[in-house]
Amino acid sequence: MKKQEGSASSSTSNSGGSVKDKPKLKPLKITCTSTDCDNGLHCFKRTRKMVEENKTGQCRSCGISLVDWPRVHERKMDDIAYTFKSLRHELIRHHFWHIEIDEKAVTHARRKGRKGMLLAAENRLRKSVGAANLPFDGRQTPMLGNSLFYAQHATATCCRKCMFEWYGIEIGRDLTEEEIAYFTELVMRFVNERLPQLTEEGERIPRTAVRRATKKQPTLAAQPALKGLMERSNASK
Ligand SMILES: [Zn+2]
Ligand SMILES: [Zn+2]
Repeated sequence: MKKQEGSASSSTSNSGGSVKDKPKLKPLKITCTSTDCDNGLHCFKRTRKMVEENKTGQCRSCGISLVDWPRVHERKMDDIAYTFKSLRHELIRHHFWHIEIDEKAVTHARRKGRKGMLLAAENRLRKSVGAANLPFDGRQTPMLGNSLFYAQHATATCCRKCMFEWYGIEIGRDLTEEEIAYFTELVMRFVNERLPQLTEEGERIPRTAVRRATKKQPTLAAQPALKGLMERSNASK
């Protein structure tokens, strides 16, 4: 029942609730508990049973252990490659690492440029996950419209629950400045890898060039079209 196809569309909800069996077939959604274990895509979010049985850190669906958690919890700047490799074992992270970034988000990032995105990333992290006991924790990071959202889902900095699981940071306290700096680095590495076309200072992009493709969810099926749009807008720099 937890199983979902890798080709499922993305979703605007990040509720993490389990998928109920309904008679009507709805489009499959990626949630933070989705798994596709046969294809190497798991979910390490703990369940109460896993806590009781002292089995946290394993995949909640198939029980596989793939991540050296003490190593990831160290949050070392010079070991980010291992953290990124580990994150990609989780379906939700893998999905956001690879899905095409929507046009609105790409335009936003191109306008800001690398410098602007760095400031925005730090700001976004402080606002969305910086404080202790956030009232809407788990729902504060949308699924599209800003490349920082993609980055946060891909790096498990989308909510404090994910940050507890992945980085061992207790939920009931503010993040430290050192932690903000580390997570800003993770987010920016995602941005730089996924949006290599960004300039340092940002570009002027007229409004008319944007429109289109911003309203629709970027389903995997729609990606070739989206990609075409992106390439065209990149070419008209
Ligand atoms: Zn699994
Ligand atoms: Zn999260």
